[in-house]
Amino acid sequence: MKPAIFLDMDGVLAGFEDWSQDVIGPDWKAEIDQPEWGAYQNHPRLYSKLPIMQGADVLYATCCKIVGKDHVHILTAMPNRARSHFPHAAMDKIQWARTYISPSIKVLFGPFAKDKQHHCRYGKDILIDDMAINIEQWRVAGGLGILHTEVFSTLNHLEVMTS
Ligand SMILES: [Mg+2]
Repeated sequence: MKPAIFLDMDGVLAGFEDWSQDVIGPDWKAEIDQPEWGAYQNHPRLYSKLPIMQGADVLYATCCKIVGKDHVHILTAMPNRARSHFPHAAMDKIQWARTYISPSIKVLFGPFAKDKQHHCRYGKDILIDDMAINIEQWRVAGGLGILHTEVFSTLNHLEVMTS
């Protein structure tokens, strides 16, 4: 079996934080801590509006070069606590990925963040994600994880891991 690379969307490819800073404001994290995401409820189509993150194209192209295009997937999560406020989230995320990353990319849903670990099929599958808990759970499931902070460090980790 060929290894696959699973790319997280928000915080790795899609600029959720940049959008939040611009639209919700500097206290955006406090809104997410609200039971149903507070002010975010006014933006039900936000997942269609996120900017692509700097370097996301290079990251995707590098992953394709390492394992082949058919083995690079997006693994994203639905906004669990607030999901009733984002009825188009799944469709918007798929459309976003096709527009900004690749028209043929497969978009997998946890469906929630805690379920990402179950997509690890064997020990060489790699998850690139900006949430430490997701990476920890992926490693416990037997996979290789890269905690994403910025593109160049992730590319370095990828090179070491796959050489
Ligand atoms: Mg993320």
